Amino acid sequence: MSSEIFSQEDLQQVEDAARRFIQTEVAAHINDWEEAGQFPRSLYQRAADLGWLGMGYPEALSGTPAPWSLRNAQTIALARYGGSGGLLASLFSHNIGLPPVLRHGSPALQQKVIPDVLQGKKISALCITEPGGGTDVSALKTTARLEGNEYVVDGEKIFITSGMRADWLTVAVRTDPKNKGPSGISMLMVPGDAVGLSRSPLKKMGWLCSDTAHLRFDGVRVPASNLVGEEGAGFKMILTNFNGERLSMSAMALGFAECCYDEALSWAQQRKTFGTALVDHQVIRHKLMDMKMRIESTRAWLNAVSDRADRNDKGAEWVAQVCLLKNHATQTMQFCADQGVQILGGMGFMRGTASERIYREVKVMMIGGGAEEIMKELASRQLGI
Ligand SMILES: Cc1cc2nc3c(=O)[nH]c(=O)nc-3n(C[C@H](O)[C@H](O)[C@H](O)COP(=O)(O)OP(=O)(O)OC[C@H]3O[C@@H](n4cnc5c(N)ncnc54)[C@H](O)[C@@H]3O)c2cc1C
Repeated sequence: MSSEIFSQEDLQQVEDAARRFIQTEVAAHINDWEEAGQFPRSLYQRAADLGWLGMGYPEALSGTPAPWSLRNAQTIALARYGGSGGLLASLFSHNIGLPPVLRHGSPALQQKVIPDVLQGKKISALCITEPGGGTDVSALKTTARLEGNEYVVDGEKIFITSGMRADWLTVAVRTDPKNKGPSGISMLMVPGDAVGLSRSPLKKMGWLCSDTAHLRFDGVRVPASNLVGEEGAGFKMILTNFNGERLSMSAMALGFAECCYDEALSWAQQRKTFGTALVDHQVIRHKLMDMKMRIESTRAWLNAVSDRADRNDKGAEWVAQVCLLKNHATQTMQFCADQGVQILGGMGFMRGTASERIYREVKVMMIGGGAEEIMKELASRQLGI
């Protein structure tokens, strides 16, 4: 579906389908999945059958081209109606793992990796962050040295979403050991069953049903044809990839903020204190309006930035907008989670309410995909300040 033929009905259809899916297939199980630390692998197949994993990808690779506005509508609805951050992060981890291959991989590598993932048969993860640092990507230490027609990979990656289950790892490696800066970095596709790859799960504050892993690469051999694009071009791929991730995270943050608002409003209408509904107290109504104000400004900004992406109006100033939007959206989520828990009172501190879960998911949204401090720094540089 191209942006030209996209209509309000398309948007409504996508939103309705996402809400139905959450209400019928997720809502009754999400708390158990969070407790268990994982959701069923069959959900990837289900999301693929619904056409969701392939949204925004070319038809030739089993995808369905879709503008950002439509993809956002889906993300917002999945978050708003009860999909947890962990579910969304893992179910859609291919949206950070695949774009480098899609944009820069050879046609043969694209065919080898992408269709199986979009069809829900395989899982994709992106591996940039290392124990030594995540923000300073150009300092990464994992190496890949060419031996004959194979790369040999050594090093470690940490905090990798879908790292335990992924069948394809898109790994940032240093292919030029003498070059310690950004131009020595490349991207390499490593299969999940490669000999020498070991994985350990990590325990977290939130995103509980998402698998997050520490990975070790000890002499892992992969064919040289698994290199994504040119040697030394990896850093630029990583930076470009971040824009899409930040846009999606902004949509997720908006959906979660709305989820907190919905829950708080519903609670305030039912809960009685001092003989009247909570919502009849002016202080509580004002809290709800403070949430609403931030939600609406985030929505308007997200729409404007996404619209520019769909029109390919993506210069340095647009990149700054994406960074600042990510900060604004995640601050909106933080504010709404805080107010949501407050309005729910003791119940907001109890496992099982959306506000309690979302409160624990705030910090990863403000750190992952580019931390708040770095977003401001990058935005100011893009604006020439
Ligand atoms: C649940 C979860 C899932 C994740 N999934 C993935 C994934 O799938 N793939 C992946 O590659 N990574 C993933 N990450 C890693 C994430 O992207 C990094 O945590 C993030 O980029 C920050 O890196 P860091 O943790 O190393 O923090 P650091 O780089 O050590 O920074 C620590 C703090 O210092 C601040 N800081 C750093 N430098 C400066 C500076 N120059 N000026 C001011 N402040 C500064 C940062 O903003 C941050 O607040 C995930 C993280 C989490 C928690």
